Amino acid sequence: QAKEAGRGRYKLFDYKMTDLNVDRMALTTQLKLAVTRQEFVLHYQPIIEIESHAIVAVEALVRWQPENHALIYPNDFIEHAEETGLIHQIGTWVLEAACQQGAQWNQTLKYPLAIAVNLSAVQFENDQLAVQIADVLQRTGLRPELLHVEITETTVMKHPERTETILRDIAALGVAISIDDFGAGYSSLSYLMRFTANKLKIDRAFTQQLTERRNDQIIPTAIINLARSLNLQTVAEGVETVFQLNMLHDKGCQYAQGYLFSKPLPVDELEPLLVKHVLLEDVRGLHL
Ligand code: C2E
Ligand code: MG
Ligand code: MG
Ligand code: MG
Repeated sequence: QAKEAGRGRYKLFDYKMTDLNVDRMALTTQLKLAVTRQEFVLHYQPIIEIESHAIVAVEALVRWQPENHALIYPNDFIEHAEETGLIHQIGTWVLEAACQQGAQWNQTLKYPLAIAVNLSAVQFENDQLAVQIADVLQRTGLRPELLHVEITETTVMKHPERTETILRDIAALGVAISIDDFGAGYSSLSYLMRFTANKLKIDRAFTQQLTERRNDQIIPTAIINLARSLNLQTVAEGVETVFQLNMLHDKGCQYAQGYLFSKPLPVDELEPLLVKHVLLEDVRGLHL
């Protein structure tokens, strides 16, 4: 698509279309503009402690909101941002915005709330990443232990030495490190275990394998047991049913995130829930 809509401006194209060359250039142009215009917003998805059902953290998830256009989800632009290097600027904005919001919530709420931020593998090409994080924490006043950074196995495997060094520096700040989408990527387990991490986030694909069929439970159960023996906390992603939640609880998984409790929400929709410190099960009318 990407037809010119007068005066040298490109119309945002239909992301489902694959007229690749034109689309990619238009996307790069638009994404660069989006960075300068700060057309991004963060939605936050609650992470629940399974035992208490309390919200203990929220994951910041970026969305692109171009003017006069529907919201664009990360799966439709993050990869392109990584390929063009624009992820550095976007990632910086995300980190700032999330820490600022986190610091504000922690001043107004009567309980600690952690903020999880996704970091792209490309951001680890910046050897100042840990310094940048330290700086953002200092400026925003967010306590380091209330920041969780999420990285995938692929990140760890892409630039192992460099990533290991940067992660050690990030951990030294007191920031928690989560391995995101665990089980979904290709990585050497022994390799992965050399890295400083505090949490494993079980990929949605495994959570959704928790069905009545015992064979399906083998891998999620193994991941939870592995995490426990490595002293890592476990967060199950993509929890959609009460059945999955109960299974996770039985198997010793500590935290859950998913549509069962809440989708990612804009600040104005999430904030009232945080202020009242509600149990999302009550909001949703669930009987857990
Ligand atoms: P992720 O970090 O694994 O985030 C979880 C994704 O699963 C989110 O998609 C969330 O909306 C979705 N999700 C949560 N619960 C459920 C559920 O119960 N069922 C289903 N079907 N989906 C659920 P979202 O927001 O579209 O983000 C997709 C991915 O984009 C993220 O996966 C993350 O890898 C990436 N991403 C998002 N924000 C950022 C960011 O600020 N920086 C970077 N580098 N990547 C980001
Ligand atoms: Mg994540
Ligand atoms: Mg994930
Ligand atoms: Mg993912």
